[in-house]
Amino acid sequence: SLSEKLQNVFKSLRSKGLLTEEDVKTALKEVKLALLEADVNFKVVKQFVKSVQERAVGQDVMNGLNPGQMVIKIVNEELVALMGAETTEIALRPGSEITVIMMAGLQGAGKTTTTAKIAGKLKQKGRKPLLAACDIYRPAAIQQLQINGEKQGVEVFSMGDGHKPANIARAAIEHAKAKGFNTVILDTAGRLHVDEEMMQELQEIKEQVEVHQTILVVDAMTGQDAVNVAVTFNDKIGVDGVILTKLDGDTRGGAALSIRAVTGKPLLYVGMGEKLSDLEQFYPDRMANRILGMGDVLTLIEKAQETIDEEKARELEQKMKKAEFGFDDYLESMSQMKKMGGISSLLSMMPGIGGSQIAEIENAMDEKKMARIEGIIYSMTPKERANPSILNPSRKRRIAKGAGVDISEVNRLVKQFEQSRKMMKQMPGLMGGKGKRRGGF
Ligand code: GDP
Ligand code: MG
Repeated sequence: SLSEKLQNVFKSLRSKGLLTEEDVKTALKEVKLALLEADVNFKVVKQFVKSVQERAVGQDVMNGLNPGQMVIKIVNEELVALMGAETTEIALRPGSEITVIMMAGLQGAGKTTTTAKIAGKLKQKGRKPLLAACDIYRPAAIQQLQINGEKQGVEVFSMGDGHKPANIARAAIEHAKAKGFNTVILDTAGRLHVDEEMMQELQEIKEQVEVHQTILVVDAMTGQDAVNVAVTFNDKIGVDGVILTKLDGDTRGGAALSIRAVTGKPLLYVGMGEKLSDLEQFYPDRMANRILGMGDVLTLIEKAQETIDEEKARELEQKMKKAEFGFDDYLESMSQMKKMGGISSLLSMMPGIGGSQIAEIENAMDEKKMARIEGIIYSMTPKERANPSILNPSRKRRIAKGAGVDISEVNRLVKQFEQSRKMMKQMPGLMGGKGKRRGGF
């Protein structure tokens, strides 16, 4: 996978002491190949490599980073920039003014599913969505939308298959006005390939009703094709935002990297599964981290592997995966962390962890505090240690008493524990294994 390839590249960088211009060049040549193999658009790759090259050569290596980490940092930042840097929301009109959203895309891309997923998100935000069944071609398309709408508790407007999509759209908007819906999502028909008729149909909808947001749905599994599809749709009908589906599969991140760069249109959400809850906001920084196998965390992982007992580490990792990670393991992982030394230098390499958080964690790792934490944990029953979710207020009071601390200290520890657990979940492979991580998305 791309992330594995990049990891190999960075590994070879890290094994050197000083980064020369030649090193940067060699590394970027490999990065280029890896990106191309991941189906990233050729022009995007070229531009990407150029900007990293320009930044990397001749730049001061930051304090606390080795030259290899510095290149990772730059590659990571450039990936984020390439994908748009900021999170973009679907633009909605305020209050009771109706927002009309048209979904577009090829057949099978995930339009109908995503329509229902978005409806759920909008409902959570307090919007009143109405879904309109404008796919009159695909057998059972209307029924599929109705079933999904029902699951989400969202009304579906349909007129059967005897009307033109533009007319269905107009009638749906009238219905929305009459019934107090403020968001209408048009689920349109796709074809297997880009074709004139499909484009004309979408154009006709846009001519006859006021569409405020055109959202293109593309299948990430189609790689480079997804980018071509995005370009064509944007040229022909105009696109405001893109949703990339099926990122849960064995897909490479190529499409996510290229679409924004090539079309200039933001990615809004990513589809992470068939369930209607499997729609996630698109975060460029997260995507970049996942493509790089968690960015600088790679280094952290490597460092951790040098000192952590492999056996124990594997055990811990298994537990974390199965969410069985308890306080006993927490103690164990804290002592492992101590063995690794210089916790702040480790933490500073992690994307998304800032100075104040480092100070907080450093603080918690303080010897005296560690002893108090141990005291609290040893005042728990084995069952409580294994299963922290059973810690109710009366148990916490008892534990506080046993450890001779204030209950607020117990609460703080539980909170800290939950945070670490969450953090560790986001870092598959940290606690050992032979660098064998699942590749990206
Ligand atoms: P449409 O033809 O564009 O309306 O596509 P559909 O919504 O009917 O989806 C086609 C297939 O892709 C269905 O089997 C969906 O369950 C599936 N699908 C849609 N989105 C996702 C996703 O994010 N992940 C996965 N694994 N499957 C998806
Ligand atoms: Mg459909």
